[in-house]
Amino acid sequence: MNSPIYLDYAASTPTDPAVAELMHQHLCMGGTFANPASRGHVYGWQADEAVEAARVDLAQTLNADPREIVWTSGATESDNLALKGLMARGQRLGRKHIITSAIEHKAVLDTCAWMQAQGFEVTYLQPNPEGIITLDQVAATLRGDTLLVSLMQVNNELGSINDLTGIAALCRQHEVLSHTDAAQSFGKMAVDVQAMGVDMLSLSGHKIYGPKGIGALYVRRQEGLALEAQIHGGGHEMGMRSGTLPTHQIVGLAAAAKLMQAELDSESERIAALRDRFVSHLQQMPDVIINTPTANSIPHIVNAAFAGVDGETLLLALSDLAISTGSACNSASVEPSHVLSGIGLARELAHASLRFSFGRFTQTADIDRAATHIGAVFGRLRQ
Ligand SMILES: *Cc1c(COP(=O)(O)O)cnc(C)c1O
Repeated sequence: MNSPIYLDYAASTPTDPAVAELMHQHLCMGGTFANPASRGHVYGWQADEAVEAARVDLAQTLNADPREIVWTSGATESDNLALKGLMARGQRLGRKHIITSAIEHKAVLDTCAWMQAQGFEVTYLQPNPEGIITLDQVAATLRGDTLLVSLMQVNNELGSINDLTGIAALCRQHEVLSHTDAAQSFGKMAVDVQAMGVDMLSLSGHKIYGPKGIGALYVRRQEGLALEAQIHGGGHEMGMRSGTLPTHQIVGLAAAAKLMQAELDSESERIAALRDRFVSHLQQMPDVIINTPTANSIPHIVNAAFAGVDGETLLLALSDLAISTGSACNSASVEPSHVLSGIGLARELAHASLRFSFGRFTQTADIDRAATHIGAVFGRLRQ
């Protein structure tokens, strides 16, 4: 039996072998295994050096200052820290309004819901049919008591790209803080925090061929922007996030980020060509609707609806492919994806949609084989 073709890179990526090898050097006796906070011996110093070198490397890929990087366990924790970490500031300044969108990742949406229960007010902007939030929408929603605008750079189900540079500039004009969840954009398009002007940015290791369980939050160094820790115990990470730093994970994340940056232009071009090929295959099939706005989306994600079939049934029948219905996080629930209903897709079409995502190991032959398989299975199920 052939293994299914992996087309679920937006859910997770395999760790790069060179990254895994590097991580291994920071785990065992003879390697840099010690606690980076141990100040009393050379083992600790070496671990600390490895962590700080990784901080410099990661900061460089973002055009940030190393002191602006806070290590976390992943983008979920980064999102939680970015939002909840501002609550005390909001209460102090009497700013309790947050702007986000209806199609954010659950890490932002569930955090916002929790903050609403704590007395914050949240506006959930509705995206246009392409999954994009416009500057006009943000401008029309900003208020005197707005604390934060949190909008994702790239949507994880559709691939749509928001204009974060414009959004951050608008926020700055109104003296409102901005945060972006860049888990799907970092390493896959230019992410330069200076050029973008955002105040906070979340990223994750396992979306960029690094390990799971590690991420970072970029926090702009500016007067008064100190996030309140959500995890207490020792005051690591400039008081914003306690816990012994996982040297191997941190080194892995930074190495993966550097590799992504080195390959960014060539990989984007290669994956865009694969995406175009895949989309043109799909367009030849009757009753397939491309949900992704391919003129304004990241190349590695294609979301498509297969009218007249149930997505879950189609997914199971597509046994040669490893893919997702909507978002992986929704796979336990029978509700259509909040993203697809958020862009106004009819319930039946949302239920008939699948997400295909491409990455480093995807080849032209995989695209052709996947399309042939989809054509055959979809044709059979529609009858
Ligand atoms: C994957 C993902 C997350 C969650 O990241 P973890 O590191 O797995 O916690 C958050 N936001 C977006 C947009 C994602 O794609």
